[in-house]
Amino acid sequence: MSNSPEAARALHPETRLVHAGTMRSQFGETSEALFLTQGHVYDSAEQCEARFLNKDPGFQYARFSNPTVAMLEQRMAAFEGSEACRATATGMAAVTAAVMGQVQAGDHVVAARALFGSCRYVVEEHLPRYGVDSTLVDGTDLAAWRAAIRPNTKVLFLESPSNPTLEVIDIAAVAALAKEAGATLVVDNVFATPLFQRPLELGADCVVYSATKHIDGQGRCLGGLILASEAFITTHVQTFLRQTGPALSPFNAWVMLKALETLPLRIERQARSAAQVADWLAGQSQLTRLIFPGRADHPQAAIIARQMSGPSTLIAFEVAGGKEAAFRLLNAVKLIRISNNLGDAKSLIVHPATTTHQRFAAEIRAAMGVTEGMIRLSIGLEHPDDLIADLAQALAAI
Ligand SMILES: *Cc1c(COP(=O)(O)O)cnc(C)c1O
Repeated sequence: MSNSPEAARALHPETRLVHAGTMRSQFGETSEALFLTQGHVYDSAEQCEARFLNKDPGFQYARFSNPTVAMLEQRMAAFEGSEACRATATGMAAVTAAVMGQVQAGDHVVAARALFGSCRYVVEEHLPRYGVDSTLVDGTDLAAWRAAIRPNTKVLFLESPSNPTLEVIDIAAVAALAKEAGATLVVDNVFATPLFQRPLELGADCVVYSATKHIDGQGRCLGGLILASEAFITTHVQTFLRQTGPALSPFNAWVMLKALETLPLRIERQARSAAQVADWLAGQSQLTRLIFPGRADHPQAAIIARQMSGPSTLIAFEVAGGKEAAFRLLNAVKLIRISNNLGDAKSLIVHPATTTHQRFAAEIRAAMGVTEGMIRLSIGLEHPDDLIADLAQALAAI
């Protein structure tokens, strides 16, 4: 199969995830090869020079590029429908490069306040150290985005649905504000997964993933991905990655490349189970709040209907009785395990207020909607009836 993006676009997304980007060696292997090599040798000094001048296509050094990593990048670009993709060592490396690569001292960034803790650190604390101002807004309030944008605003950044409150932001509307302001919009699409939400089609300039989550999907490797136009990658990302060095290991790229083949199967099943578990949880008296993007009672259900083609594999809920009750529930589940990871084949549960969002002051947590009784549940590949039975006995225990 041809590697060209045009050829890939003629195929259905599931097919792209199995075939796009495949580069076969002289051995004609069926499964993609793992090129675990730091560097490459050249036929001549002239070829070596040409490669460093970008006049000879080929690989040089694994900090810049690697055949296995390139297969992952091309496969992801073909799936997302972007011109280009760059892989990074972690999701945070992807977020940091996508934002930091665009700004310099004197610039300004606006971000939705309901963010993954480390994303919020980058925007709120890291950027200002280098003279880049940032403003955090209620991402669901378009007037707040508009009011925060200044003449020197270069980047808008958001996560939708957000971690852990599954707040949904109107991506097309924020993308229009970015365009108007001459800024770019970067979307962290982890919670939606590439299967259920396509930010580039909604007007975003750049999409980032923690591939650690659903893309690996089996709790093995860390990784990140940045997807955008060729111009965006060349201007903002390429040199930053090459010179600062958050390169993805070829081994981790190989794991994720193979994992992409089963991504739709896993996500569809996990999301279907999540919907079943959420509907069951909605009927439980111990709960004071339930947030699931697939339900009609989600606060942004109308936006979800417009911009997402499926829900999420995550559920957020609040139990009456605050931290004490939440801890009793976490300590009572047996099949579901306590872990701050998500998107795994194994169902995982966490108490955000004391873990992922522990470093924020109580009033900031409250503004983010992270209450003392809130629990985040990541649904895996187990049978949903077993998960419901586990939650039933645990809820009875609180
Ligand atoms: C996990 C996560 C990240 C960070 O990814 P790592 O691979 O852990 O660095 C960023 N954004 C969101 C929404 C996440 O869930």
